[in-house]
Amino acid sequence: MAMADMRPPIESGCPDGFQYMHPVMVKNYSNWKYHEHPRPGVLLHVAHSGDKIWTVKAGTQRILDLFTLRKLCDIGDKFGEGYVRFTLRSNIEYMVADEAKVEPLIKALEDAGFVVGGTANSITTLSHTQGWLHCDIPGTDASGVVKAMMDELIDDFRNCRMPNRVHITTSCCQINCGGQGDIAINVQHTKPPKIKHDLVSNVCERPSVVARCPVAAIRPAMVNGKPSLEVDEKKCICCGACYPPCPPMQINDTEHTKLAVWVGGNHSNARGKPTFQKLVAAGIPNNPPRWPEATAIVKQILKAYREGARDWERINDWIERIGWPRFFEVTGLPFTKYHVDNWRGARNSLNASTHIRF
Ligand code: SF4
Ligand code: SF4
Repeated sequence: MAMADMRPPIESGCPDGFQYMHPVMVKNYSNWKYHEHPRPGVLLHVAHSGDKIWTVKAGTQRILDLFTLRKLCDIGDKFGEGYVRFTLRSNIEYMVADEAKVEPLIKALEDAGFVVGGTANSITTLSHTQGWLHCDIPGTDASGVVKAMMDELIDDFRNCRMPNRVHITTSCCQINCGGQGDIAINVQHTKPPKIKHDLVSNVCERPSVVARCPVAAIRPAMVNGKPSLEVDEKKCICCGACYPPCPPMQINDTEHTKLAVWVGGNHSNARGKPTFQKLVAAGIPNNPPRWPEATAIVKQILKAYREGARDWERINDWIERIGWPRFFEVTGLPFTKYHVDNWRGARNSLNASTHIRF
């Protein structure tokens, strides 16, 4: 094939973001002087050049249907300046360089049923993981938990009443995304997988499944004359890692799949190492469609944090200051022997931060 006929390579990854940015942001890129927070849901950035840009933030339901997306874009064209972006937590942000457009834009969003907020010391939208839509591991419906909880926490999205920002996350499996929130609501499997032996030989690559288990609890086995697998239930930690490469190792069901609440996760930044979440409530009923038990626990923790933390303390800072015994006292959550973290392997084996160590 002549070189001229060869197709160009297909580029993958993120496209260049500058082409989608508001012209004022492109002009003043990396040259901002300060920013202010005029009201919940609105940020003002002022550049050294004197240019100003306002950002209006509204919550969305994350998995957007086409009609909602078009409605949001129409609002941006009509009341904004045609530039939007989505945040990691599924909020949409509109950028405008004219202050007179801010209030009409907020009104248009609220009239269309969207909620403006999620900035500064508010509870921003719960982040949730891909779930049923894109992933093969879910043991529960994370987006349903998000919807039910945000309905209850919406006033704290709209207002800035918390001591500092609160990030809440959900996770529909025990092993991957959904961690590192101030509060995390994660699925919790409580029994070893139940193997449907008839299906294993047709569906699963047995060596991959055996290799997947973190505690080497899975062995190849012959069952009813067919190649299958067996699980050493004494070793199994019910993590659910074997379920994605081998769906016949069914681990989730209505009775044994529970929720657990963890608190105090925070990413590292220029000044500090990351903090890891700690378990504070387990075995919570996985109770759709409103998950009242899990929501009540999250609200209990938020109430105690709001009443007891000093200004600008994140949840992990607050707990560190008052101590875990006091945390359980003020939240009213029961402390059991299962809360004692007696595993010390992480100190040697987990690479916990990007800080340089020698
Ligand atoms: S939390 Fe687990 S199941 Fe849910 S999207 Fe992430 S990897 Fe998939
Ligand atoms: S649930 Fe986790 S620990 Fe148990 S057998 Fe599967 S991979 Fe191993």
